[in-house]
Amino acid sequence: MENTRSLIQPVLLSRINEQQILRMLLEQGPLSRAEIARVAGLGPPTVSRAIEALLQSGYVEEEAPQAGFGRPAKKLRLAVRSAQVLGLVLDAERCRVVCAGLDGKVRADRTQTFTTPDSYEALLDQAEMALRTLLDTPNMTTWGIGVSMPGLVDSNLQMGLLSPNLPITNGRTPGRDLEKRLGAACLVMQEEHALCLAERYFGSARGLENFAMLDVSTGVGLGVMSSGRLLTGQNGLAGEIGHITVDLRGRRCGCGNYGCLETVACDTALAAIVSQRLGRKVDFDAMAALVARGELKLEEELGTLCSYLAVALAAVINLFNPASLFVHGRLFALDPNLFPRLLEETGRRTLAPSFQACRIVQARGSKRQGAVAAIIDHLIDSLVPMEISHLNYKAVA
Ligand SMILES: [Zn+2]
Repeated sequence: MENTRSLIQPVLLSRINEQQILRMLLEQGPLSRAEIARVAGLGPPTVSRAIEALLQSGYVEEEAPQAGFGRPAKKLRLAVRSAQVLGLVLDAERCRVVCAGLDGKVRADRTQTFTTPDSYEALLDQAEMALRTLLDTPNMTTWGIGVSMPGLVDSNLQMGLLSPNLPITNGRTPGRDLEKRLGAACLVMQEEHALCLAERYFGSARGLENFAMLDVSTGVGLGVMSSGRLLTGQNGLAGEIGHITVDLRGRRCGCGNYGCLETVACDTALAAIVSQRLGRKVDFDAMAALVARGELKLEEELGTLCSYLAVALAAVINLFNPASLFVHGRLFALDPNLFPRLLEETGRRTLAPSFQACRIVQARGSKRQGAVAAIIDHLIDSLVPMEISHLNYKAVA
């Protein structure tokens, strides 16, 4: 036992150092060796060894030197020249496929979109076809595929359990199924959890240890980062605020219950309420176009929606005491006064000390970045066995 430990430990410590450097490059962008040593608090020989290993394994690469005076130190960055990750965003109406370097920068020109089919097999076929065109990029190695999925996702089983807005994924394992078809590693992550990672790595939550992400788009979902870790619960099902009852006599929800927050406080809910008023079915885009042309006024509907949203925000702030609460949704584009009004009403409904400690802002990250962040985070995480990294080891110089 002692022998095994003494053999494993140096390897493990090297991996922990490498993991720390990768996270720094992900969060801070390209850095020189000296900057890495300083920020990480590691000795230069340790940094050199770790970077050599990361260059060899292909995680990082050296940036081409900048033109200019003198010879500035070459910076290291996460690999983009010959390494990529793919992201698949599953959603109720449209799905998206994207690619990015290991630095997470989405290549917008290569994004593909397809209408969500109504059977699971057709969904796999469409996703496979779209992903394959990106996988087949010459001289490019794909390190993995992140799948952002709505609804309850069992993170241990990698299985969709109950998705009110995308029920064809119930009981299904799209990651495992695509892995078999494509031969590339796939990781499925619940969409709001993935949004949290996107905001942390590429958005306004850089460096934040405690924040929450409330998504009010197709449904209502919540991701919570607490002391630097995503709150997942036992099976990854934590955060389902959208299915808390807020109207005892409310409409039936996709989950089977009545009067859930999701039936009154997201863009799908607003489109459903407006459809009822107009006597014809309009989706969010059609509704937004009518509003933009001045042919539809939503004052009353937006007022009610704002109150329910304020209840949701107040609940999140009271329960989790986040330093920042990000709100993700395109609803706010309908009326420039909606977000300020939401802040004001949330202030009245939240416990004062918790409200004062919390900054409420609109999220910058997208679900596309969420899918990409999920797989990059997984690739970096898997450098160190989970039971070890959970101990929060500090790197050793
Ligand atoms: Zn529900």
